[in-house]
Amino acid sequence: MTRARRWRELKPWLAEQLLARRPVISCLLFSAAAIPMLLLFTGLHTFAQVHPQARAFYHPSALMAVQVLLVLVIAGLAGVSLHCWGRRKTDAACTWLPMLTVTPTVVVLIALAIAYGLKDTPVSVSVLTAILLARALFDFKTLKPSLIIGAGMVLVNEALVAQGLVPYAPLLSGPVFTGDGLAWWWQIWCRVVLNFSLLLFSGMVFFLFNTLGERRRELENLVRTDMLTGLANRRSFMTQLEIESHRHARSKRPFCLVMCDVDHFKKINDTWGHPAGDAVLVELGRILKNTTREQIDTAARIGGEEFAVLLPETGLAQAERVAQLMSSGVRSQIFVYDGKQFSVTQSVGIAQACDGDGDGAMRVADDNLYIAKRQGRDRIVASVATSAVAQDAKVACALK
Ligand code: GH3
Ligand code: MG
Ligand code: MG
Repeated sequence: MTRARRWRELKPWLAEQLLARRPVISCLLFSAAAIPMLLLFTGLHTFAQVHPQARAFYHPSALMAVQVLLVLVIAGLAGVSLHCWGRRKTDAACTWLPMLTVTPTVVVLIALAIAYGLKDTPVSVSVLTAILLARALFDFKTLKPSLIIGAGMVLVNEALVAQGLVPYAPLLSGPVFTGDGLAWWWQIWCRVVLNFSLLLFSGMVFFLFNTLGERRRELENLVRTDMLTGLANRRSFMTQLEIESHRHARSKRPFCLVMCDVDHFKKINDTWGHPAGDAVLVELGRILKNTTREQIDTAARIGGEEFAVLLPETGLAQAERVAQLMSSGVRSQIFVYDGKQFSVTQSVGIAQACDGDGDGAMRVADDNLYIAKRQGRDRIVASVATSAVAQDAKVACALK
């Protein structure tokens, strides 16, 4: 598998996990981001411990305490990861595991931010990253203890610092600023920590917004689509009709509305069963789609066994030809159910819109459909929907 393909598959997988929020996978993903972040701090501290000039910027005992704390949390996260890795294919409920993953990580990062001086350290970006990641992967309940503990730590520290009872940035001993700006070690430290945290933070924000955008598009599609046939639904059709009506009012170019209704569909359900009826509707949807122009016409299922097609830039004669193609396609389709064959017909009402009045055209197409039913079904009735003409210029064309 190429690297590009692996990355392409990783993105939707991550998005799926984000949505599914399976605790085991969420813990694994959280640890996969948190362990490198904590290792970065441990690495920088280890360097400072062995480098005499860098060591001079720290209180050695405080640095050692922070290191022990970091190593403990990393070991804990590694343990959780191992535990979760073994159970990654199961949905084993482990209510305590997410909290055990998130709380120590967020708390140790807040402690680190306090130790380095709350207002002057890029560790706050790491804290934000961890909180955002935790919120994306787990529910708020999981994050709550760490937020309460973290907020408590910050408030108590602020109060104690204000009272002069504890020093600000208790980890540091050497001056962070020299006469020329940041001391050399802090330049390195700040750049590494800030850039690493920002990279993780921006990557995550980008990924989250991207995933949200995709989900929104999927939802919008679902809202516009008829689930059985995959055609547009009534809501989407009405929106398209309004757009086309406005365009028609400006351009005066004709557009037509075709309404189709399956004949005696109830009998099909009653004789062959509801699933057979559904199969007929799916097939009719396919015929309608295949008979219309992609990206130009809109074929929709607007009711149980009622379909509508919007034909922009189309005159009445042309619309009738399209309807004839649809009806003959429907008529010649043989359905097989329980080893027996049957076929269906449809009645069609067509209206050519006038003066940008889409609703008027819909009414006339509906009236024409009703006339086609009354005249014996399996036929097309078409007319121009001008208020005056619509009453008397109805053109009936029997297909049989
Ligand atoms: P007509 O020729 O006058 O249109 O008669 P008809 O039987 O087609 O019309 P009617 O309105 O009496 O019945 C429509 C039937 O369509 C009734 C309903 O059960 C069925 N129907 C509506 N939606 C669905 C669906 O999603 N699936 C199936 N299988 N049947 C549906
Ligand atoms: Mg019907
Ligand atoms: Mg009907």
